[in-house]
Amino acid sequence: MRKRNIPFAYATSLREVTPDFFHKLGIKTLLLDLDNTLDPYTVSVPTPETREMVERLQAAGIGLIVTSNNSGKRVFRYCAELGIECACFMAKPFSFKIKRLLKERKLDPATVMLIGDQIMTDVKAGNGAGIRTMLTEPLDTSHEPVSTHINRLFDRPKRKKMAKLGLLKDWRTFL
Ligand SMILES: [Mg+2]
Repeated sequence: MRKRNIPFAYATSLREVTPDFFHKLGIKTLLLDLDNTLDPYTVSVPTPETREMVERLQAAGIGLIVTSNNSGKRVFRYCAELGIECACFMAKPFSFKIKRLLKERKLDPATVMLIGDQIMTDVKAGNGAGIRTMLTEPLDTSHEPVSTHINRLFDRPKRKKMAKLGLLKDWRTFL
């Protein structure tokens, strides 16, 4: 199993993770994948569950930036509605844009975590940028684009193998 594919922590959904987890690890900023991490592909307006989660994290003093491979009106509108910053065209699994973002914003990599539902894009990009990563389950895989479907063909067996080897560490074990 390649190190670059292994997330630092695992959660079924970011919605279940409490701010204590991030505080405990000294994490001050989250780079959030949008599609199927914050909300499903078909959602253009943030759902009440996501709004509540964002409010809870912000109230705990955690900075949030959406880092999406996607772009276009939907992403901008979605982030504007949520009141959080967004960085688009992030070219995950490559990490150069994540590294650039950290540098531009003078963020200490030790205090940043990238959270996403895909090993092939999110975990690889975050690990490549030298920050910690959290892998989640996708919220709803029924309306995904072809490229994501293909990624899932590689993602699923990797996930299964990691779980078997005990490499998917549930976030609660860090509390
Ligand atoms: Mg995603």
